[in-house]
Amino acid sequence: MEKIKVELGENSYDIFIGENLFEEVAKFIDTSNFSKKVLIVTDEHIFNIYGETLRKIFCRYESNFEIEIIPPGETSKNLENAEKLYTCAIESQLDRKSVIVAIGGGVVGDLAGFVAATYLRGVNFIQVPTTLLAQVDSSVGGKTAVNHKLGKNLIGAFYQPKAVFIDVTTLKSLPAREVKAGLGEIVKYGVISDADFFCYLEKNIEGILGGNVEVLKRIIKRSCEIKAEVVSHDEKESGLRRILNFGHTIAHAVEEETAYQKYCHGEAVAIGMIGAALISQKLGYVEAAKVTRLKNLIESFGMYTHCENCGVEGIYKALFRDKKTIGGKINWVLMKDFGDVEITDKVPEKIVKETLKEIIKGG
Ligand code: ADP
Ligand code: ZN
Repeated sequence: MEKIKVELGENSYDIFIGENLFEEVAKFIDTSNFSKKVLIVTDEHIFNIYGETLRKIFCRYESNFEIEIIPPGETSKNLENAEKLYTCAIESQLDRKSVIVAIGGGVVGDLAGFVAATYLRGVNFIQVPTTLLAQVDSSVGGKTAVNHKLGKNLIGAFYQPKAVFIDVTTLKSLPAREVKAGLGEIVKYGVISDADFFCYLEKNIEGILGGNVEVLKRIIKRSCEIKAEVVSHDEKESGLRRILNFGHTIAHAVEEETAYQKYCHGEAVAIGMIGAALISQKLGYVEAAKVTRLKNLIESFGMYTHCENCGVEGIYKALFRDKKTIGGKINWVLMKDFGDVEITDKVPEKIVKETLKEIIKGG
């Protein structure tokens, strides 16, 4: 098992990366000073695949555990399900020293994390992310949230887990499209922080798409290290953490304009990164050859490089509705080189619109 420490003072915690880790989770709880009441939260898909194994392992360590199963999908991330989990926590008499364990993708992690942050003003929380996206992104940084019917992630808290267990074997059952969704964020880490890592991705496309466990462990580890490093310097997102937003300004607009139906988050990020790189090129920040390399890598992973069913004007307007657009100013994360980005709010409208035209099919 590999270990990465996320340095956040008294909120520091370890991320463990390895294979078949459910037993390690149970052992961790068993040897901690948590009270022995455990609430496990998962979704129907994951429970159907791993429920039996999970139950068997936890029975050996903890006699006092409940498994709550939510329906899969983004629509489950709401206050109604949070309420159901509170009820379950109260009925099972979870106390201040109990632990809530999220086993699943970003939906389960965000919802269970939000409940852990608020039930009794905060109980112990452990995350076992089972999608590539959650493993490299949402499980590092302590953001928890539920959606409101008027917008995504509008109700939430920063709340750090006690530990994160990334079990790469769970990726074997993950649908191919969900794997690609995670690759969007992984490519992003290469661009914002590590040129060698970007080259490693270029050289290991087959291993990554073929599910080679050693290659996957390596790219997950490096991604978590980069995110952990950024988050340690900026836990509550005021400065440095903004670089994690590379590709996301356009991505959020694309997701919104397509009503969150056509593209999953990672796919929109891939399109958004190409957009941000093209803007960088037009403004003279980066050479064209590097933008082409980024585009080629995204293409080799089988991800979209263009979006459809959108208009330039619609996407342009949506850019200003993004949560991170403050006072009408968009903070663009632009690329100078692999491993080197810069933030600026000075991108002329004309350049943005020209770029949108290029990344929108038929735009
Ligand atoms: P994220 O926000 O991390 O992309 P979600 O929580 O929405 O992910 O999960 C995406 C989908 O993948 C859901 O339908 C979920 O049930 C399913 N899923 C999550 N992890 C696995 C896994 N390891 N194997 C199979 N399906 C999974
Ligand atoms: Zn993202």
